[in-house]
Amino acid sequence: MAIYLDCNATTPVEPSVASAVVRFLEKDFGNAASPIHDYGVFALTAVEHARGQVAEVVKANRDEVIFTSGATESNNLAILGLADAGMRNGRCHIISTAIEHKSVLEPFEEMARLGFEVQILPVQSDGRIDPQRLSDAIRPDTLLVSTMQVNNETGVLQPLTEVADILADREIWWHVDAAQGFGKELEQLRHPRINFISISGHKIYGPKGIGALVVRKQNRQFPPIHPLMFGGGQEQGLRPGTLPVSLIAGFGEAAKLAVRNNGDRMKKCQTFREKALATLSALGAEQNGAEKYTLPHVLNISIPGINSEVAIKALKNVIAVSSTSACTSHTHTPSHVLTAMGLSFEKVEQSIRLSWCHMTPEVDWSEVENILRALRG
Ligand code: PMP
Repeated sequence: MAIYLDCNATTPVEPSVASAVVRFLEKDFGNAASPIHDYGVFALTAVEHARGQVAEVVKANRDEVIFTSGATESNNLAILGLADAGMRNGRCHIISTAIEHKSVLEPFEEMARLGFEVQILPVQSDGRIDPQRLSDAIRPDTLLVSTMQVNNETGVLQPLTEVADILADREIWWHVDAAQGFGKELEQLRHPRINFISISGHKIYGPKGIGALVVRKQNRQFPPIHPLMFGGGQEQGLRPGTLPVSLIAGFGEAAKLAVRNNGDRMKKCQTFREKALATLSALGAEQNGAEKYTLPHVLNISIPGINSEVAIKALKNVIAVSSTSACTSHTHTPSHVLTAMGLSFEKVEQSIRLSWCHMTPEVDWSEVENILRALRG
């Protein structure tokens, strides 16, 4: 099997996460909403323990964590959930950015259909949004600003601290899609100004199908988000339905490890990066997104003279890499992220994303180099 270098699409699962999932599937399988016997009590205790572990990563309160099926659902809940409040208060202007994930951009298309004015900010060639442009875009009727933390295609960290300063004294809701940075870049998301944080279990060595929306309270009150589903009352009425206890327990374990092992993981990823860069730079690869803002486990490169699809196929027995975000790769449309950064069509067609983690084994980079050189002829 090829070595897996597609950790931004999904990560492998930590062994202790898998053990937690299995335990709550096989043994302690009770319903957390039925704590009238030990089965239910064990399930509820596990859910609340995991909620605390997830909250701890961003220094939120336990009751500010709403479990969802993943970041897609969290993004939808934060964005569409505010439509009601916006319409009631006559605040119909929304600001987001051109490099957001489809699970942010498509709810915004829906908001536009509902009558909201959605303003999409451009991005600079380094892959970052320009905080000044955001500041200029704000209006008295701005309801919501939505900015991602780390881009999934480039690994570029966005200037959230600057955004926090701009939004400091303004009554505008701020949502951050942190699917790619939660549990990796810890400090930014602890900023109390961020109202909503979307997170996903399967990007932090946890299970798929579980995530959360962190909803920070203001003056002990939730922001005015309206649920998208009804019935059951779970998750404070914001996300009803029987909780997937096993997935939640695994997610909690993954969150705990993310904090505990952060430094060690970063170091391992950086060492891997240096080896990858040495080979790829020798081939003339150019990095898409500024190196100094890129998280250590991601490289998005374009190699002159080599089409990415051809390269990915040629490399497929050695390393498993991707050409664009997994969620849109079936559409074969050029990456909206790289296009927004101003890359030529040719460079976009040559772009390859490599993303690894602390569990990734050594790659034989000389073999990678030989395969790629042979493609150039
Ligand atoms: N936002 C970003 C930035 C992502 O990378 C992803 C996953 N590709 C998502 C949202 C969606 O996350 P999930 O798979 O948990 O729905």
